[in-house]
Amino acid sequence: MTAFDYDLFVIGGGSGGVRSARLAAALGKKVAIAEEFRYGGTCVIRGCVPKKLYVYASQFAEHFEDALGFGWSVGERRFDWQKLVAAKEQEITRLEGLYRKGLANAGAEILDTRAELVGPNEVRLSATGKTVSAERIVIAVGGHPSPHDALPGHELCITSNEAFDLDQLPKSILIAGGGYIAVEFANIFHGLGVETTLIYRGKEILSRFDQDLRRGLHAAMEEKGIRILCEDIIQSVSAGRDGRRIAATMKHGEIVTDQVMLALGRVPNTRSLGLETAGVKTDERGAIVVDAYSRTTAPGIFALGDVTDRVQLTPVAIHEAMCFIETEYKNNPTSPDHDLIATAVFSQPEIGTVGMAEDEAARRFAELEVYRAEFRPMRATLSGRKEKMIMKLLVNAADRKVVGAHILGHDAGEMAQLLGISLKAGCTKDDFDRTMAVHPTAAEELVTMYQPSYRLRNGERLP
Ligand code: NDP
Repeated sequence: MTAFDYDLFVIGGGSGGVRSARLAAALGKKVAIAEEFRYGGTCVIRGCVPKKLYVYASQFAEHFEDALGFGWSVGERRFDWQKLVAAKEQEITRLEGLYRKGLANAGAEILDTRAELVGPNEVRLSATGKTVSAERIVIAVGGHPSPHDALPGHELCITSNEAFDLDQLPKSILIAGGGYIAVEFANIFHGLGVETTLIYRGKEILSRFDQDLRRGLHAAMEEKGIRILCEDIIQSVSAGRDGRRIAATMKHGEIVTDQVMLALGRVPNTRSLGLETAGVKTDERGAIVVDAYSRTTAPGIFALGDVTDRVQLTPVAIHEAMCFIETEYKNNPTSPDHDLIATAVFSQPEIGTVGMAEDEAARRFAELEVYRAEFRPMRATLSGRKEKMIMKLLVNAADRKVVGAHILGHDAGEMAQLLGISLKAGCTKDDFDRTMAVHPTAAEELVTMYQPSYRLRNGERLP
């Protein structure tokens, strides 16, 4: 019999929190979980899920155009933003209900309140003022979009949080940032008919991705009509008399636009959580410091997901939660494996990637083989769309292992999931070569690139 009110108290009802609470409760532990906003967290409520729904919505304009080439005549088209927002709301409410149901069925106590640490094993519930104790506490409170306080006029800007629920679809938008969120939203807004400009401080968008994909996507987005301003930043934002926004940029003068959206990274939700009181250390970015088993510096307190700023991705938070359960409740110490995480950017065209980018692989391996194909996908033939697909495999010549796989084009995210298995299994290029193609698909290119396009030795391209 435990001396605590709960075996486990979870703060935060997002992907990592819900998974740990549900699994622990299903094992018969006495569990409570507290969420101050809506169950489902960023992913379900204002992240991955609504984003993907909006991506689908934004693709119809091109689908209608493409249909002509396949013999269809498409009648009058009209887009209703409010209808999309309402449909999205209905879907995320349904998912939120499923999250709650999963917790309830497992026997976890669901609390709709903010919770803060008040001691090593103690949590205060804001809704009631009550303090409860728990043998173990998991902090899985996620993060929020950086408000970029240093920018004069930042309060006139929106972030991804607001973008999903704007009263009106703006006629024009300026999006700052060159990462996942900036790029995905630029494509969403453009697809919905908004005049879209992206402004990014670096030389090329998506700094952590393979160069070919970065350049290829940049060109494809510009071809669609998205304006991309690189090596520039917004210096201030003000409101014009007509209520529009005036963004002063460093290099491109003033940009007058309906909305300015900041997508400049996300910061951990660690403010006023009582971390110091409980002895939980954070780093200079405010992220909770954890060891390989998600243990914080305070005994009995664990942290999972975006609040630890290891890799800010939903499946990673879920994986970390499952490792926590294995370690703490199944006597099977398991540390999260953050190596070779496949990921997708739901840009248009999409990016799917796993493993190292060419630059990184060229630094790491003495000799690197690069297999690269650039082609027009079959579905772009009859539609007449000038769409190019890029596929790339990076192979360490010494052991023939595929160390990076990168795709730009339709369904790249779906392909990345399966490539993730191959790379995780340590497949060699010979394994790819021995694999029969699935015809006719775009993905077959991945197993039919028999000769390297070029080689790099000590980072230098061989003639
Ligand atoms: P990212 O880290 O992907 O991108 C942040 C962008 O902001 C970068 O381009 C960065 O530039 C730029 N930036 C940061 N600080 C400044 C500054 N002071 N001035 C100008 N530019 C700045 O963050 P996001 O906000 O796009 O997304 C957050 C995280 O959420 C992602 O890292 C990802 O893990 C996750 N996510 C995943 C998605 C998916 O799986 N499809 C979708 C959306 C989000 P630089 O590159 O030069 O540093």
